[in-house]
Amino acid sequence: MVYVSINPATAEVLAEYPVLSQEEALALVRRVHECHQTWRTTDFSQRAQLLNNAAKKLRENKEEFGRLMSEEMGKPLAESAGEVEKCAWVCEYYAEQGAQFLESQPVPTEAGRSYVSFRPLGTVLAIMPWNFPFWQVFRFAAPAMMAGNTFVLKHAPNVTGCAEAIESLFRDAGFPADSCRVLRAENEVVAQVIADDAIQAVTLTGSTRAGRAVAGLAGQALKKVVLELGGNDPYLVLEDANLALAAEKCVASRLINGGQSCIAAKRLIVVDAVREAFEKRVRDLMATKTFGNPFAGSFDLGPMARRDLRDELHRQVRESVAGGAKLELGGEIPPGNGYFYPPTLLTEVPTTVPAFREELFGPVAAIVPARDEAEAIRLANDSCFGLGGAIFTRDIERGNRIAEKELRAGACFVNDFVRSDPRLPFGGIRDSGYGRELSIFGIREFVNVKTVYVK
Ligand code: NAP
Repeated sequence: MVYVSINPATAEVLAEYPVLSQEEALALVRRVHECHQTWRTTDFSQRAQLLNNAAKKLRENKEEFGRLMSEEMGKPLAESAGEVEKCAWVCEYYAEQGAQFLESQPVPTEAGRSYVSFRPLGTVLAIMPWNFPFWQVFRFAAPAMMAGNTFVLKHAPNVTGCAEAIESLFRDAGFPADSCRVLRAENEVVAQVIADDAIQAVTLTGSTRAGRAVAGLAGQALKKVVLELGGNDPYLVLEDANLALAAEKCVASRLINGGQSCIAAKRLIVVDAVREAFEKRVRDLMATKTFGNPFAGSFDLGPMARRDLRDELHRQVRESVAGGAKLELGGEIPPGNGYFYPPTLLTEVPTTVPAFREELFGPVAAIVPARDEAEAIRLANDSCFGLGGAIFTRDIERGNRIAEKELRAGACFVNDFVRSDPRLPFGGIRDSGYGRELSIFGIREFVNVKTVYVK
């Protein structure tokens, strides 16, 4: 059994990597656990120094890491470079803020001294997806390492080159060699790893299906879990919206990373009063977007990451059209070897079809009609997911109210698209998972909130 990395723009095999046997995998995680025994004794200033080193190395090698990402999963080179920058930012953010976020908190009681201390949990298993092969890892790893944990990285097989580069980067930045190790293993072996005493917690970013499987295993073993899963984010366009802004933000969000983003604008729920005008703007904008091999020119979109994902997306589009959605743009698999899919627009999307019910992980925008604000909110919440959402309106108080009180989601933005930011918590509710990454909330996920009481 090997992990195979394939260039999705050409379907050529880039590399093959052997997977570890169960014995090898368990030996590796125990070494990482062993490393934690010394790593946990380092102080915040040492860890901050190493995180700053990591940020520097990321920037120094931005081009190389960017090329690697684009080669393995197909995103345009400019987006890859932006991703590396963002990883450097999250390292610097926690280097600067981490100590303060985890400072002990005195609590007055009748004892001589009583306080809360945030201690590292130990070794965390990080199961990660391919869509942002660096960012997904760093947004977990920077706070987890700052808190004094070590981790084992089970990355998606198609981005193994990125996984290996991340392991080397941490080592080159001065982190102990066994504080971050890549685990190339089949899911049956991952199940044994989760159960092993060397692992104290699991974080998974990926599909709801994978989340359920891993949460079940972690539950059996009573291991702490954070789950960042899929989404079907609603974007509400109300009658008083700035339509040019709304169309621009919705299209940008839907097409970022070739549409392969958990927080992309997936259901554009538009009130009837402005629907026709909004649809025209979206169609015109999407029609200008180009796609092609990231190494052959400057395109808005690269290929999709894997053939099976492209084929699944096409199935969802076809079924949606068969179920009553109107195909306005795209919707055809182009000829050639690469796993390309064109920017696609569906309008008049009914609530019964995949474009409304399921997550569409590709460049397909779905416009859903709504009579008014009340119906738009009802449709937005008619989903098993609860990751992000956005509202477009010129009435800031109205947008704020809907964002805060009405939409069932972990993050709601007004007049902008949902994005992750080291300063703000990130995560979902319902089938989008539980727990939070980033900000003070993220760094407190993988710690033991310990009471110390000294009489
Ligand atoms: P995926 O198939 O769920 O894979 C994600 C990771 O989970 C991979 O490393 C995969 O490894 C692993 N995995 C899957 N089943 C497993 C199991 N039974 N036991 C252990 N590991 C398992 O997801 P994907 O297709 O790569 O990524 C797309 C999905 O991720 C979308 O639904 C997207 O919305 C979601 N996502 C969420 C966020 C967020 O922050 N909420 C961010 C990005 C992506 P194998 O491939 O080896 O099985």
